[in-house]
Parts: sequence; structure tokens; C-alpha cells
Amino acid sequence: MFEKVLIANRGEIALRIQRACRELGIKTVAVHSEADREAKYVKLADESVCIGPAPSSQSYLHIPAVISAAEVTDAEAIHPGYGFLSENADFAERVEQSGFIFIGPRPDTIRLMGDKVSAKDAMRKAGVPCVPGSEGALPDDPDEIMKTAKQIGYPVIIKAAGGGGGRGMRVVHTEAALLASVNMTKAEAQAAFGNPMVYMEKFLEQPRHIEIQVLADEHGNAVYLGERDCSMQRRHQKVLEEAPAPGIDRKLIATIGERCAEACRTLGYRGAGTFEFLYENNEFYFIEMNTRVQVEHPVTEQVTGIDIVQTQLLVAAGQKLPFKQKDIQLRGHSIECRINAEDSHTFVPSPGRITGFHMPGGPGVRVDTHAYHNYMVPSHYDSMIGKLITYGDTREQAIARMRIALSEMVVEGIKTNIPLHSELMNDAAFHQGGTSIHYLENKLGIASK
Ligand code: ADP
Repeated sequence: MFEKVLIANRGEIALRIQRACRELGIKTVAVHSEADREAKYVKLADESVCIGPAPSSQSYLHIPAVISAAEVTDAEAIHPGYGFLSENADFAERVEQSGFIFIGPRPDTIRLMGDKVSAKDAMRKAGVPCVPGSEGALPDDPDEIMKTAKQIGYPVIIKAAGGGGGRGMRVVHTEAALLASVNMTKAEAQAAFGNPMVYMEKFLEQPRHIEIQVLADEHGNAVYLGERDCSMQRRHQKVLEEAPAPGIDRKLIATIGERCAEACRTLGYRGAGTFEFLYENNEFYFIEMNTRVQVEHPVTEQVTGIDIVQTQLLVAAGQKLPFKQKDIQLRGHSIECRINAEDSHTFVPSPGRITGFHMPGGPGVRVDTHAYHNYMVPSHYDSMIGKLITYGDTREQAIARMRIALSEMVVEGIKTNIPLHSELMNDAAFHQGGTSIHYLENKLGIASK
């Protein structure tokens, strides 16, 4: 096992990775920007290195600074967390070229999955069901584009091959609007991602977002850890996640899960990963793969008893997965609420000093947060200040525990979205389970795209 790991991230995930390392007896190096100098997880790390000023382009995204920090501290491996450099194939490559281990898949796998056209193509070949759409990127010929849309059937969605974070997508309802929309999306994709390539998919009207967690080692072993339902979204951003997904046939999950594990074996995938699907009318449609640990990984940990971050470390150190598919049994139900420093109704970020802080507890309650009393939430980064995760024997119990935990939770001095989560815990449709990706925006009175 590694002796020392550098954590190239900040916030709750930096603390989460630090805890996993500590349990395995691994020393940690925290890298931080000037804005995060006082963060408690930075002080808790065995060593820390300031890698630049507050803007992430000059610190958390600055590849030479991160690599130099690993060099001066003699770290053996780098854990990228999520966001920032976690899905940057060039970074993974530079890490390996500099003689460190990248805790994640091989750079060429990241590159393959980072381009949505090549990712879909690889999945189709591996037998993973995809959203019906164009064969690869759209050609320039307008007649061909119109023919493709007609074959798929309206509405269709035009998506950028290099897109991410919910950007670079446009829904088209009529043939009259098609060509202008394709050209606009191309221009936007070029400007935002430096790649004008776009492709076309059938636009699913009321899908759910269901994703499959996988873990794979370098010895050809791959397993799936069941699914998560992340349909509660606002602007394509997840707000609340749960495992398992209510009301989906377990046999169907097993079939899709096995396909994902098989795709990992075919690709020679290494580490943790997530296959994201849209689910509608009992069918799964692959949309993209995330080649990193995800924000919502704890709900899977709660229902499987497997520590995903520790497994990432084991696999990166060249060890075999310590379990087989038959060892993975789902038990109970888990829900995660993302706690953001933002106004609960307008969603305007609310950075600043936390003047009062009390976290909930009791059976089945897990809090993953780097925040504390007197912590200053910086304005430079994502507004998430932590995650509240509950577990119960049943979904009802997990919801009841979440409702109580939210009522106990106190964060003063800044605004948070705790009121929104409390409202959701009393929402009839949420209680029923199985709401679509548009449910939350409709409830909030925001017309979804
Ligand atoms: P990103 O990488 O930007 O997150 P995704 O491909 O994962 O892009 O899509 C993000 C979200 O966009 C999905 O969760 C879903 O809400 C919506 N979406 C994407 N493709 C489709 C589709 N074919 N039909 C309906 N909605 C879609």
C-alpha cells in the first residue's frame, strides 16, 4: 500500500479521501489555495502545500503546481477527487509521466469517455443500451442531418461531444428549427469546449436519471454496486440522491449492472466509475460515463457496506478487488441531501462566515462536511458545504431519519438550502418515489428546457 498520497482537491471530498487514507495507514498531503489556508482538513493532513491564489485556474486546476507539490512532499500517488482535474486525461498523463500513480483510470480511458461520441460508440460495442441517435457525430450535409432527425423522430436533442456540466445541449421540436439549432450548438460547443463536434439523440420526455456504480481492478475483475436514483435535479445539477432506485425491477438492474461490469472488463477499466443512464418505460439508455468518484457515492456505501474511496486506493496500488459480485448484497435504503450555501428559493450563492453550526446525529445519520463553527465559506468555489446522508432498513425509515436530521441541523450566518430539503421530505410525489428529472423544476415553478 502507498505510504503517502496527495489529495488534489478541496472541501468535503478532500476530507473524505483523507479519512480513507488514514484508516489504511496512509499519510496525506493536502494541497490548497490561499482561500483554503485555514480549512480544518488542511490542518489535519500530515503535510500541506499552498499551490496558488484563490481562483481555481491558478491553484486546483494548475497542473504544474499540483505535480510540484507531489514532488516536494515525496507523495507516491495523487487522488483527484471529483470536479477540478479529476477527468482531465492530460493531467492523468502528466501525473504518470512524472512518476506518480494517478488514482483513477488510465489516461486513454479518461480520454475515450470524455468525448461523448466516442464513449457512446464504445458502449454500443460493449452491448450497453444507448439513447437512439445519430451514428457518431453529425455530418455537415443538411440533408443528412434532416434525414437522421426524421428517422429518430422529434423531439430530438443536439449535444456537444465535448460537453459537460449540463452545458452544450439544445432540444429541437420541429424540422423548421433543426438546422439553425445544430449550427448554434456547434458554435457554442466550439466556444465553450474548443470542439465543434455535435451529435443527435432522441429527446426523452419524462426520464429518470439512474446510474450504476462500478469498481474494477487491473487484473480483469469488475463489479457493479447497484444503482442510484439522481432524478431530483435543478438545471441538470443533482440536488438529492438515493439508493436503491424506488420501483425498478431488480432483475433489470442486474442485467444492466452486469453489462456495465462487462464493459469495464472489455475496456480494461481501472478504479471507480459511474455509468449514467436515462430510464423511461422500463428501458435504460446510456448517456455518459464518469471516470471518478462521485459526490453521491456515500448512498452506495451505506447500502453495500463497501468503502468506495478505500477501494480506489487499493486498486490504484495494484491490488485485486477484495470482493466478488456475489459478495455484494444491497441492504436497506439511503438518501443524500446536498447542503449548499445558497438561498433556498432563489438559489443565489451565500458565501460567508458560519457563526453557528450544529450537526445532527443518531442512528443511520452520516454527515460528510468540511465545515465547522466559524468556518468561512469562500466565494470562489462550488457552493456545496457538505452532505447529509441517512440510512434506514426501509425507504420510509431513511426519509424519517432525514426529516429529523434536517430539523436538528443548524447552520447560521449564511443561507443554506436546508429548507428546500425539508420541504422535499414532506413532498407527496417524493414519498411515492420515481419522479422524473423535470419534477423538481416543475415543483419550483421553473420551466424546464
Ligand atoms: P453533462 O455531461 O453535461 O451532465 P449528460 O449527457 O449527462 O450531460 O446530460 C445531462 C442531463 O441532460 C441529463 O441528466 C438529462 O437531464 C438531460 N439529457 C441528456 N440527454 C437527454 C436526452 N436524450 N433526453 C432527455 N434529456 C436528456
